[in-house]
Amino acid sequence: MKKILNYIGGDFHSAQSEQWLDNYDPSKGEVYSALPRSGAEDVEAAIAAAEDAFPTWSALSAQKRSEHLLKLADLLDRKANELARAESIDNGKPLALAKAVDIPRARDNFAFFATAILHQEDAFHGMGERGFNYTLRQPLGTVACISPWNLPLYLFTWKIAPALAAGNCVVAKPSEVTPMTAFLLSLICHEAGLPKGVLNIVHGLGNEVGEALVSHPQVKAISFTGGTATGKRIAAQAAPQFKKLSLEMGGKNPNIVFADADFDRAVRISARAAFANQGQICLCGSRLFVERPIYQRFKEAFLAKVSKIKLAPPLEEGSQFGALVSSAHRDKVEHYLQLAREEGGTVLIGGERPAMPAPYQDGYYLQPAVVEGLPFNCRTNQEEIFGPVVTLSPFDTEEEVLQMANSVEYGLAATLFTQDLNRAHRVAKDLHSGIVWINDWLVRDLRTPFGGMKNSGVGREGGFEALHFFTEAKNVCFNY
Ligand code: NAD
Repeated sequence: MKKILNYIGGDFHSAQSEQWLDNYDPSKGEVYSALPRSGAEDVEAAIAAAEDAFPTWSALSAQKRSEHLLKLADLLDRKANELARAESIDNGKPLALAKAVDIPRARDNFAFFATAILHQEDAFHGMGERGFNYTLRQPLGTVACISPWNLPLYLFTWKIAPALAAGNCVVAKPSEVTPMTAFLLSLICHEAGLPKGVLNIVHGLGNEVGEALVSHPQVKAISFTGGTATGKRIAAQAAPQFKKLSLEMGGKNPNIVFADADFDRAVRISARAAFANQGQICLCGSRLFVERPIYQRFKEAFLAKVSKIKLAPPLEEGSQFGALVSSAHRDKVEHYLQLAREEGGTVLIGGERPAMPAPYQDGYYLQPAVVEGLPFNCRTNQEEIFGPVVTLSPFDTEEEVLQMANSVEYGLAATLFTQDLNRAHRVAKDLHSGIVWINDWLVRDLRTPFGGMKNSGVGREGGFEALHFFTEAKNVCFNY
């Protein structure tokens, strides 16, 4: 069986305890590899390696660091097919999605931050006769990057790339549920000749490796993406040590369709927003609000669209919808479907486990589900499900839909469809979310701030925001 190894100080190691965790192929529901069950002692070794590497790495010119990161981008590009296949097997997502989104974006993360640092300008504030100030942006030292299972390599590199580009050394922990492409990345770092200790990857459980990292006094900043409950715990642990924190957490995103919207486009994109990656994207539009005059027509067209989504094993040609990431996660989604029924909702389509042919009969499949008839403030409409479940609700006025959209504890992303320019910008301004898409969904420009408000996040990733997070701004004041 394939064994995933930690990457510490440029070398590959099993956990010092020699304990292993099972890694599952969700498409078949079977164990196909093993990852180290690392502990505090492995984290200690990784931090020591990062600390050793920091003086040399941080002293490199931006040009040199850029060259190292571009080499990684180039290798990710060259190995894109292998990486996409590995991501699909590890996560259950359709191969086509991994090829079109996950891997190219992981590659882009390195290329983007490798070149961003060549264009970075720091502030200068003249004080006339008195002198001037300038800002030094200095790397922090060793930083921790902790990522989730839904877009494994994409979100892992979204943190690692700016941290390294800014001159820090990194100890990174991928999700124990999807560790494979993080391991392949460590092989790529080795092949690319990334200096030893600059990036260290430690595999294992959140409450073991994650906590050891978060609480370690030498870790100066924590960039975390994952669930809100985990983020809360990390924030509580990090606060007494005053570490810098960037938290990207859960979402319960509204998708609002006004009656004047481009109808076909709204149907098509709403279906993608609800069910891409089996509904397991923090940005998925899981609460669909449709203006009453088009509600019935939209519902019929939307259900027709959903019924055509091709659920098939992730590696199969044409698969648009694969397996959920784990058995436990599918149970959680099914629990919410049961709750939706108890709260008075009607499952209009989906929500069943489909019969799959061998060897996929034990995979974690679940048909995409559309639920109608729920009040906006019930638990199904307030709590993050993070799976293939979308609720459908009519609305009558802009005020009403804004109230419903903003009623949740989350504030990550929102989508709205309308052809009324004034309304589009008015509603965008009043939505409580860090990202608003108008007439589209999941369009990303890496220069823009990315993140959520309320319980969806603290801080922003993307562009210079990310580079600033991974540096300490020091003002130097000079008096003539
Ligand atoms: P999770 O919070 O369970 O785990 C995320 C990571 O944190 C994993 O690597 C895990 O091992 C680690 N972890 C767990 N407990 C920890 C602890 N006590 N200390 C340190 N690390 C710990 O989340 P998940 O189930 O992997 O991912 C799903 C969640 O991620 C959803 O809530 C989703 O909305 C969110 N998410 C958010 C974004 C965003 O950009 N806002 C993007 C993707 C996913």
